[in-house]
Amino acid sequence: MTTSTADVAVLGCGAMGSAACSFIARRGASVIGIERFSRAHDRGSSHGHSRVYRESYHEHPDYVPLLMEAGRQWEQLESRVGSTLLIRCGVLYISTPGGQIHDGVLESASTHGLECRILQAEQLREEYPQFRVMDEYVGILEPNAGFIDPERAIQAWLLDAEQAGATIMENTPVRSWEETGDCVRIELDDGVVEVGSLIVCSGAWTSRVIGQLGVPLHPTRQVIGWLRPDDPGCCEIGRMPVWLIDTCGNEPYYGIPTWPDQLGPEGMKVALHGAGTPTDPDQEDGWVRPEEIERLRSEVLEHVPGAVGSMTHATTCMYTNSPDGDFIIDRVPGCDRTWFAAGFSGHGFKFSSVMGRVMSDLSLDRRTDLPIEFLSLDRFDPSRSGDDR
Ligand SMILES: Cc1cc2nc3c(=O)[nH]c(=O)nc-3n(C[C@H](O)[C@H](O)[C@H](O)COP(=O)(O)OP(=O)(O)OC[C@H]3O[C@@H](n4cnc5c(N)ncnc54)[C@H](O)[C@@H]3O)c2cc1C
Repeated sequence: MTTSTADVAVLGCGAMGSAACSFIARRGASVIGIERFSRAHDRGSSHGHSRVYRESYHEHPDYVPLLMEAGRQWEQLESRVGSTLLIRCGVLYISTPGGQIHDGVLESASTHGLECRILQAEQLREEYPQFRVMDEYVGILEPNAGFIDPERAIQAWLLDAEQAGATIMENTPVRSWEETGDCVRIELDDGVVEVGSLIVCSGAWTSRVIGQLGVPLHPTRQVIGWLRPDDPGCCEIGRMPVWLIDTCGNEPYYGIPTWPDQLGPEGMKVALHGAGTPTDPDQEDGWVRPEEIERLRSEVLEHVPGAVGSMTHATTCMYTNSPDGDFIIDRVPGCDRTWFAAGFSGHGFKFSSVMGRVMSDLSLDRRTDLPIEFLSLDRFDPSRSGDDR
C-alpha cells in the first residue's frame, strides 16, 4: 500500500477536473488528478466531439461574466498548447419572440453589450435555406459563439497540467475519502493519497462520491446522433453555423456543422437539449435503440429538411441535473478543505476553462474573485426566499 501526498487532489478528471489540475499546477502547487477511467473517455458527460460555446446566455445574464473569463482562458490554453480548440463559427438561434431562448439571448446580449444579428423569417430563408422557417420565427446570429471538441480540450488541459508538474492517475477509482484534522485522506484500491485540500469534480457520480450533499442531483441519459446529409455541403462550416431551434415552447434541437478537422463519427451532430431519461451512471453503456435513432433523425429533418440523409452513429451521454438547472459550486457541507463543482445540467462544458480557475482559487486561497455567489449551495436553503441571485 503506497501513500502519495500533494497540496491538492482533484477527484475526477473530466471537463472540470482536468482544467482544475492545470490551474493548480500552473500556480506552483503540487496536484494529483485521480480519474477512474482513461483520459477523455466516453463513459461520463464529456464525449461526442463537440460542445456548443455561446456567450449571450439565455439561461441567465449572471453567467455572462463567467463566460467572458471562460473565453479568455480557452484562448490562453490554445496558445499554450499550440492548437485551436474553440471554433467561433457563430451560433444561430431560431425561435419565436416570447420564448425563453429568444428573450433570454437578447436580454443577455443587451445587458452585456454582446454582438448579435437579428434575421427576420424571409432573411433567414434566404441565408440559410437548409432550415424550415415559419413566418413567426426569428433568427438571432451570435457571431462570436461556436463549439469546442471536449475530448481534445480535456487532453489539452491534462497535457498542460502535466507540463506544469501535475500527476494524473488514470484507471484509478476513488473508493472513499475523509477529512482527518489537517488533511484529506483518499482511499484507492491499492494506495492512499493524503492532501491539504480536495476538489470533487465527479460529474454524474457526485451524489455517490459526496454522501452529505443534501441536494439531489439527477443523472439523465441523453441521445446524440450524427446525420450525414445527401448534400454534405449544406451542413459544412461556413454554410451552416451551430444552430439551436426552439419553437412553440418545445424542447430545443441543436446541431453542429461538419468541419475539416472533425474527429469522431461522420456528419452533423444533432441532439435534443431536453429532459432525458433518469439513469444509473454505472449502468450507462451508450446503447441507443433503433427507434430512438429514427425519431431523432425525423424530428431534426422536420426543422432542417435540407439535411436529408442517414444517421451514421448514435450514442448516449449524461447530464447531471441540479434542482434548478444551475451549477452548484461550494464547499462540501460539514467539511473544511473539500470543495465540489457539480450539477452542470447539460450546459457546463463551455465553462470548464473558468471552473478550473474557480476550483484552483478555492482549493489554494479558500476564496475566489470570480462571481460565483449565485451558484452556491445555500440557494436551496428553505429559510431563504425569493430569487436574489
Ligand atoms: C449530450 C450532451 C451534450 C452537451 N452539450 C453541451 C454543450 O453543447 N455545451 C456545454 O457547455 N455543455 C454541454 N453539455 C454539458 C457538459 O458536457 C457537462 O456539463 C460537462 O462535460 C460536465 O463536466 P464534469 O467534469 O462535471 O463531468 P465529467 O466530464 O463526466 O467528469 C467527471 C469525471 O469524474 C470521474 N469520476 C467519477 N467518480 C469517480 C471516482 N470515484 N473516482 C475517480 N474518478 C471518478 C468520471 O470518470 C469522469 O471522468 C452536454 C452534455 C451532454 C451529455
